[in-house]
Amino acid sequence: MKVDGTKLLEEFRRHLADHNLPATQQRLAVAEAVFFAGEHLSAEEVSRRVAKRVAVGTATIYRTLDLLVRAGLAKEHDFGEGFKRYEPLAPGQAHEHCICSSCGRVTEFANDRLERMIALLAEEVEFRPHHHRLEVYGLCRSCQQANPLARAR
Ligand SMILES: [Zn+2]
Ligand SMILES: [Zn+2]
Repeated sequence: MKVDGTKLLEEFRRHLADHNLPATQQRLAVAEAVFFAGEHLSAEEVSRRVAKRVAVGTATIYRTLDLLVRAGLAKEHDFGEGFKRYEPLAPGQAHEHCICSSCGRVTEFANDRLERMIALLAEEVEFRPHHHRLEVYGLCRSCQQANPLARAR
């Protein structure tokens, strides 16, 4: 989903200041990599992008990613690949994910009716939801085209 990376970065600076954490070059570089990614990055991909600008150890990468998640500025995903992926959190932009089991590509979709429906269904069982996760696994368009047999399944 498209997010305003500049705004998120401002909020991150504010969050750091509020918690008496120095806005180090390393922290800002990790945050920028996530905020301006436009896709769901693994920690390794974040680390590769950051390395082009500043030297950051793996521990700092993970700690900063954790910090972004706890600050509510990024979302952590587990798409069953054995590692996590991160995306900037856009308030009010609820969306779901389709994950290709062949190439790992993540496609997003958003639907207001679906979001309302999930809230309604939860209410019906007297549940008060604070968040949910919907993941659809299958084959993306290019993998279907690359393997016409798979499409029939
Ligand atoms: Zn695919
Ligand atoms: Zn997403």
